[in-house]
Amino acid sequence: MQALTDRSKMVDRKPMTFVERLYLWNIIKGMRITFAHLFRKKVTVKFPEQKRAFSPVFRGLHILNRDEEGRERCTACGLCAVSCPAEAITMEGAERKPGEEHLYREEKYAAKYEINMLRCIFCGFCEEACPKDAIYLTETFAPANYKREGFIYGKDDLLIPDPKTGK
Ligand code: SF4
Ligand code: SF4
Repeated sequence: MQALTDRSKMVDRKPMTFVERLYLWNIIKGMRITFAHLFRKKVTVKFPEQKRAFSPVFRGLHILNRDEEGRERCTACGLCAVSCPAEAITMEGAERKPGEEHLYREEKYAAKYEINMLRCIFCGFCEEACPKDAIYLTETFAPANYKREGFIYGKDDLLIPDPKTGK
């Protein structure tokens, strides 16, 4: 049959000699490569004890921000959810009641705010879309979890501690 390319190679099918059948030379060759790697600079790190430095543009787990007085910045405008290409963000807005001014900065706030980290592609569009500086992507990544529900981060997981009380 005519070859389609000139890349084909003839295979040497002559029977192996006794020495070749011992595979000793091939084992020595393989061990030589292994030993050579022992003295080379390692390309791996001992994670999690050792961590690599992140790139300056790394985008990790989200946080919901507070203002200097510890009030939640998010006003449940929904712009982050609309800009999210993965449809990973869901929220429910609520009206701020009299007496809650110390909790929420705007008249409307997110009573429920969730991000599905299994959907998220960490593009950072939500951060860019937010007019209130309320959502940021940090340098931490979502820890492993055995359950899918564990990757749905609610407000309690996302909201940073109150700078005044530390809670
Ligand atoms: S980082 Fe991108 S994919 Fe993830 S929640 Fe924000 S907009 Fe959606
Ligand atoms: S995080 Fe920002 S963009 Fe998203 S709902 Fe809150 S205020 Fe709007």
